[in-house]
Amino acid sequence: MRVLITGAAGFIGSHLCERFLREGHEVIGMDNFLTGTPENISHLFGNENFTFIKYDVTNFIYVEGDLDLILHFACPASPVDYLNHPIHTMKVDSLGTLHTLGLAKAKKARYVLASTSEIYGNPQVHPQPETYWGNVNPIGPRSVYDEAKRFSEALSMAYHREHGIDVRIARIFNTYGPRMRINDGRVVPNFIYQALTGKPITVYGDGSQTRSFCYIEDLVEGIYRLAVKEGIEGEVFNLGNPEEYTVLELAKLIKEITGSSSDIVFKERPEDDPDRRRPDITKAKSILGWEPKTPVREGLKKTIEWFRTKI
Ligand code: UDP
Repeated sequence: MRVLITGAAGFIGSHLCERFLREGHEVIGMDNFLTGTPENISHLFGNENFTFIKYDVTNFIYVEGDLDLILHFACPASPVDYLNHPIHTMKVDSLGTLHTLGLAKAKKARYVLASTSEIYGNPQVHPQPETYWGNVNPIGPRSVYDEAKRFSEALSMAYHREHGIDVRIARIFNTYGPRMRINDGRVVPNFIYQALTGKPITVYGDGSQTRSFCYIEDLVEGIYRLAVKEGIEGEVFNLGNPEEYTVLELAKLIKEITGSSSDIVFKERPEDDPDRRRPDITKAKSILGWEPKTPVREGLKKTIEWFRTKI
């Protein structure tokens, strides 16, 4: 296949580029380096099946030649990043989604949208199945991401219904692993950096809020299956690890694995920070035959080793 990946220089995007190249596909990566970095893909530049276009997907997109598949993964995804770039985040998930869907229509390409567990907001159903409609504050600070991703889902479904585009939506839950930016503000890089440098580990609130953490290799496997499977047009899938931890448990686990002497300190909780989050992955299991294989402790060990080389 000839595949376009937006957000190619990002954490998940760069791993996807690698995976599709490994499977023998031709990959065109696109990124404007707003939150992604050239370092994530520099090792791919010698690969004859890889082309890179530095471009902002909020502008009209032109790609020469055929395309079989578009994966729209461009978007600031860390709360700190999207709160720093609120309007651009909304543009990437409105104009960017519109342009990539328009391109899919023009090229008769399959389309995979990177959506998020954030579309469930502060969920009142637990764990969250795909059939849950969510509980989102439409004007809160996180709405720039939550509502934009909800719009992206709606627009993708409109293109599916009106133009018959073969659209698939991945609702990605918290994911971690090598190539996360050390300062991206998310809980895993923050805690690892703090633990490795002896700085206080900053737990927001009392740390009783929960998240479920999926290792990047597992997530990429799920996205790959979602992208290549036949007969799932217009379907949405939760992709994440159902192993649920409180943030305080995560802090203790990272402190233990790193052997750190950092103190755990408690800071103010961000506005609208979801209380609980855990994917119901029954659908991905039964239709894609997918479930995460990497226990959190093992994935964290690998991630910590990688971060050690970066500090
Ligand atoms: N968090 C924390 N300390 C940090 C960074 C994050 O306690 O230094 C908490 C945050 O309040 C949230 C959870 O960790 O409850 C996950 O935050 P993250 O920014 O990774 O992503 P989110 O799941 O909120 O999108």
